[in-house]
Amino acid sequence: YLFSILVNKKNPLNPHYIPSDLIEPDIPFYAPGNDPRRLLQREAAIAAEELFERAQKEKIHLWGISGYRSYKRQEELFSSANGRSGVAPPGCSEHQTGLALDIPARMNYELEESFAKTKEGCWLAHHCALFGFILRYPKNKEEITGFPFEPWHIRYTGIGLASSLTLTGMTLEEYYERGLHLPPK
Ligand code: ZN
Repeated sequence: YLFSILVNKKNPLNPHYIPSDLIEPDIPFYAPGNDPRRLLQREAAIAAEELFERAQKEKIHLWGISGYRSYKRQEELFSSANGRSGVAPPGCSEHQTGLALDIPARMNYELEESFAKTKEGCWLAHHCALFGFILRYPKNKEEITGFPFEPWHIRYTGIGLASSLTLTGMTLEEYYERGLHLPPK
């Protein structure tokens, strides 16, 4: 799979890694125009547009908070967080890939666990795989992913992989641990 890249605290990205095809999806964003947080890799951006379009049709109001996050920006956030949990060390945030997007409910800008129980959070959990996204940091998988439960953080993997991970309840870490990313022998 083209979009199966694994980024976590054990597999950080190179500080110089910048995706080559970042574009701004046509979805509502909280961040102002020209903000790099509005950027995603092209395929993820197109998929996000389709996801938002479907949500809109079903009267689910979503908006984007954070897409792409540079290594430098991660350094800034990490040093200002001063060891607070939930902030990944630089290179360990998959937002640097341009494949991750934080989506809270439109009426509530806060990224909180309670989002999972909102109408929007339930909708997102049930529909994101249809558009090639997974909920990257599920509940009860904190020890495996190294991240707290984040019902607002979706990650583009392509429809095939997103569907199989969602159906099996596997995280990207488990997919790698089991060697499923390797071509069959
Ligand atoms: Zn995120």
